[in-house]
Amino acid sequence: MPGARYKAMTAKGMLRWIFGFSIVALLFFLATIRNPDSQVRTTLNVFGTLVEIIIRDADEATAHKAISAVSAHFRRMHRDWHAWEQGELHAVNQAVAAGRSETVSPFLLPLIHEAKQFHRLSDGLFNPAIGALVAAWGFHADEPASEAIPTPGAIQELLSQNPTMDDLIVDGTRIASRNRSVQLDFGGFAKGAALDRAREVLESFGIGNAVLNAGGDLVVLGDHGDRRWRAGIRHPLDWGIIASVDLNAGEGLFTSGNYERFRDHEGRRYTHIIDPRSGMPIDRILSVSVIHPEGALADAAATALCVAGPSDWSRIARRMGVTHVFLVDKSGTVYVSPEMRERVTFVGTPPETIVVGPRWDTGAPGPAK
Ligand code: AMP
Ligand code: MG
Repeated sequence: MPGARYKAMTAKGMLRWIFGFSIVALLFFLATIRNPDSQVRTTLNVFGTLVEIIIRDADEATAHKAISAVSAHFRRMHRDWHAWEQGELHAVNQAVAAGRSETVSPFLLPLIHEAKQFHRLSDGLFNPAIGALVAAWGFHADEPASEAIPTPGAIQELLSQNPTMDDLIVDGTRIASRNRSVQLDFGGFAKGAALDRAREVLESFGIGNAVLNAGGDLVVLGDHGDRRWRAGIRHPLDWGIIASVDLNAGEGLFTSGNYERFRDHEGRRYTHIIDPRSGMPIDRILSVSVIHPEGALADAAATALCVAGPSDWSRIARRMGVTHVFLVDKSGTVYVSPEMRERVTFVGTPPETIVVGPRWDTGAPGPAK
């Protein structure tokens, strides 16, 4: 097909999504069901993703109240953390572009601090200030406005403006920027931050055993009871899972991949994760999964390690304080940190090449297994 196609998923995936969405529509926004082994389960539609919440060992009335509170938080996050819809982050971006400063609410401010921190820790590979580049690639819309991809000249122009999180000056609750080309896009860690906040809300209701699952990105509270929570890592080339991992109480598992949002143009796939050094979508990695107790950090690291690629992921992981990493490169080779290897059980035919390491203490690559 000539020109660009924009796909978030395959036709099969779309059917599943529509099927899932119809179920949610049927159950309506907040319908909850009580099932026999004392779980309360519900599905919320947030950020265009279905978030499943499973609460164990809580009385039903408390669980429902907690879910309502989480739902209200999600609605506000959707509005105020959104990169291009009208809301608080959008207002900050407009102020920056106009050279003005802006006061931000306690709801948004912690994200700005986190974004600066993740940018610094990732050596600039995670750069939530490159909203203009993400938009130029057509990812600031449900459908791209044009079939064209940006010209090399347009990309060079955006790169030469060099927007980074260091340009942002935070003075109490006032935000200003030294660089008007900074456009904040928190898409690389907003889901993790959202699930962290949702976990805090559940905890404030005394809930200590639950899972919040946003399409495979998840955080858990407590343990599963008699055994640990176990989650699947989605196969980047298939709709199945490539491996299952054990999660400890309070951990999050986040995966970034080139299959989540992308567009095809003249036989090439351009994905939504952009290398801030080249302005180009990443093309060496299929997916990266990270486990960490802080969901926002796990989410940011998964995105950053996609940019770092097969040769630099362990250095960036170490800088970011992340020990549990599972990475699939475009040849299908799996790179896994020794700490993550202990948690992983491959499902189905294991990948042909699995590289374990390098170890943090020596930096040496481990044996291929
Ligand atoms: P994720 O699915 O968590 O990897 O996040 C991908 C989203 O992060 C994209 O849709 C963009 O909104 C944003 N993004 C893309 N490239 C970067 C980058 N290098 N640093 C930070 N955020 C990015
Ligand atoms: Mg991410």
